[in-house]
Amino acid sequence: MSRIDHRHRHLERIAEVRAGLHAEKVGYPIGIRATEVVRTAMVGTGLLRVTLGGPGTEGFEAHAPDEHVKLIFPDLDGSLRLPERNGAMLRWPRPVLVSREYTVRRYDPVAGEIDIDVAPHGGGLASDWARAARPGDIMHVAGPPGGLIVPDTYDRYLLAGDITALPAIARRLEELPRSAKGWAFVEVADATQEIELCAPEGVEVCWLRRGDRPAGTGDALARAVSAVTVPEGERVYVWAAGEAGQVKPLRRWARDELRLEKADSDITGYWKRGVADFDEDDH
Ligand SMILES: Cc1cc2nc3c(=O)[nH]c(=O)nc-3n(C[C@H](O)[C@H](O)[C@H](O)COP(=O)(O)OP(=O)(O)OC[C@H]3O[C@@H](n4cnc5c(N)ncnc54)[C@H](O)[C@@H]3O)c2cc1C
Repeated sequence: MSRIDHRHRHLERIAEVRAGLHAEKVGYPIGIRATEVVRTAMVGTGLLRVTLGGPGTEGFEAHAPDEHVKLIFPDLDGSLRLPERNGAMLRWPRPVLVSREYTVRRYDPVAGEIDIDVAPHGGGLASDWARAARPGDIMHVAGPPGGLIVPDTYDRYLLAGDITALPAIARRLEELPRSAKGWAFVEVADATQEIELCAPEGVEVCWLRRGDRPAGTGDALARAVSAVTVPEGERVYVWAAGEAGQVKPLRRWARDELRLEKADSDITGYWKRGVADFDEDDH
């Protein structure tokens, strides 16, 4: 197989999955890049958009609404270690680097810009970085390692999450065909965190206001989602992300109540109360 064929194999796989019946994670060649903060802006009162740019963004790949990058931070002693390119993969040094994962909210190859939307919160490394970010600051970005490719052939889509999932939900709503049907549930603190979404007409958007309840507590999201009735005989795709404990009940609901095949749902803990640098795969 020629080099060109090899480099583009993931694009062929993405096209195949898109045209198929079930969702699938497809890996891309993964890179490490030095990017520069171009600007920051609030999106509603709950998300701080950091736009990254500069020559380092050239060749960045974005194919799926919930794909993520890892922001790489210096070690406690201030030294910066980086993963190294190893063909289409990265070689990660030991001990593990300090990093945090963020959704690629938008990639504009013409402007050479990547947007990430950070939900600021108290006492977080990435959150503090985003608040302090100024044009010209350098941030090293690894990934995305791949993305979840969801075919356009489901009868309904059910998207759910908290403010950390809103960037992925907003991007998926933009990228779904305009004929798509379904529901999107987003838990926010209050109305000031609700943002304009470009949802297909047939997708009902429901904001759940938490009020004084701390982020990541309560079962309002799971209760609202599991009250949905999927019309008999229709194929639904369920995507949910947010605080690990809040989204966990949805896994059982998708499996036992909706009786979905594994490939027809993706439910992920994006963070966990009281745990810094939470990684669901470690738990
Ligand atoms: C695939 C993936 C995509 C993600 N995409 C996004 C995204 O687009 N936008 C986004 O904002 N987040 C996103 N997250 C979640 C984000 O990675 C975590 O919230 C991360 O812990 C933030 O890092 P930090 O350094 O600010 O806080 P940490 O140092 O990791 O945590 C410090 C403390 O803050 C708490 N904490 C962490 N996050 C929050 C929060 N959001 N609200 C309240 N308390 C919190 C922790 O429980 C801990 O007690 C994503 C996560 C994954 C796995």
